[in-house]
Amino acid sequence: MGASIDSQRCSRARQWISLEVDGELSRFEQALLRDHLRGCDCCRVFQADVGTVSRELRQARLEALLQPVALPAARRHARSRPLQALAAAALSVAALGIATTVGVLHGSPQRPEARSTRPAYLDSWDYERSLIRQEMLRAQQYGRAI
Ligand SMILES: [Zn+2]
Repeated sequence: MGASIDSQRCSRARQWISLEVDGELSRFEQALLRDHLRGCDCCRVFQADVGTVSRELRQARLEALLQPVALPAARRHARSRPLQALAAAALSVAALGIATTVGVLHGSPQRPEARSTRPAYLDSWDYERSLIRQEMLRAQQYGRAI
């Protein structure tokens, strides 16, 4: 049971680490992440790896296209959605590759059976943000500082 709780905390911390790289982590989440990282060597290593991979990707030279991409003007709008879907799919594959590479290098703290029993809504950022919002409203009502 303890390992499962640690795995959930590590899983959430790693989601925060990914958001932090893109500057999308709230101050509240930053504080929670810092607190977790103080006591978790594995997630500190994960954070360092994500930072390294992210920096390398951002500093990598752009590849030149072998042929220019040109769409007929009249159909450009109609074709933009499939092109956007293709770009989103390519980004998803790249993200999955990075996550897999980092996971393979340092292992995952989650056991497969722990992942299968975890309700999907717990991994939803909307759910997470609603919990944070509720807690902040509750704190405002009772005059507590977060
Ligand atoms: Zn951790």
